[in-house]
Amino acid sequence: MSDPRVNGIGMTSARTRERLVQRLQEQGICNLRVLDRIRQVPRHLFMDEALASRAYEDTALPIGFGQTISQPYIVARMTEAVLAGGPIDRLLEIGTGCGYQTAVIAPLVGHVYTIERIVALVTRARRTLRELNIRNVSFRHDDGNVGWPARAPFDGILVTAAPQEVPPKLFEQLAVGGRLVAPVGPEGRQQLMRYTRREQRMVQEVLGAVSFVPLLPGLQR
Ligand code: SAH
Repeated sequence: MSDPRVNGIGMTSARTRERLVQRLQEQGICNLRVLDRIRQVPRHLFMDEALASRAYEDTALPIGFGQTISQPYIVARMTEAVLAGGPIDRLLEIGTGCGYQTAVIAPLVGHVYTIERIVALVTRARRTLRELNIRNVSFRHDDGNVGWPARAPFDGILVTAAPQEVPPKLFEQLAVGGRLVAPVGPEGRQQLMRYTRREQRMVQEVLGAVSFVPLLPGLQR
């Protein structure tokens, strides 16, 4: 890509991004394909220009509508966690937000089905991903609590807003061998969880403490 807007300059340049990748490596992210996506995806294009100079800091930042763009470390960690365990043909994502997580994982799976409850964010994420030529993504303005039954089962499910408990409909839409990665719990006490569906049971792992916006019920127009 030779588009200077995508490649970035100064605080959005390749060198600044490389520092972020190094930092994530130091913190234990080791999937090279995931690290390469963090290197490639122009995070500054997912946020307001006023904040672009901070795009490659490892921190969550506001994107409007009371929502945030996730911290790069968390995006990398969740991507790595859902990919571990086998190839993903169909991935369901709940909480598109600005679409950064979507853009990071899209080329690493067959197809992404992503759901967001705030319509303005759906519109914006769709536009940004089109600009980046990422085409294997279907967007939906809906309440992610119900999942996307028409496209189930999914080999992977990423939930990027925190429910008190994982909505049962999401577990129902997970294929055998599939992984669901989600922050679970009340504000201030969330744990990142990975659930793997086995024939007869669900295997549960705690990946660590996190801080996400809550998974809310219903739609916002
Ligand atoms: N994935 C984003 C971060 C998303 S923040 C990134 O890469 O930066 C969480 C998002 O989940 C918000 O946009 C919020 O509006 C959305 N959300 C919250 N509850 C939801 C629900 N029930 N269904 C769909 N989206 C929801």
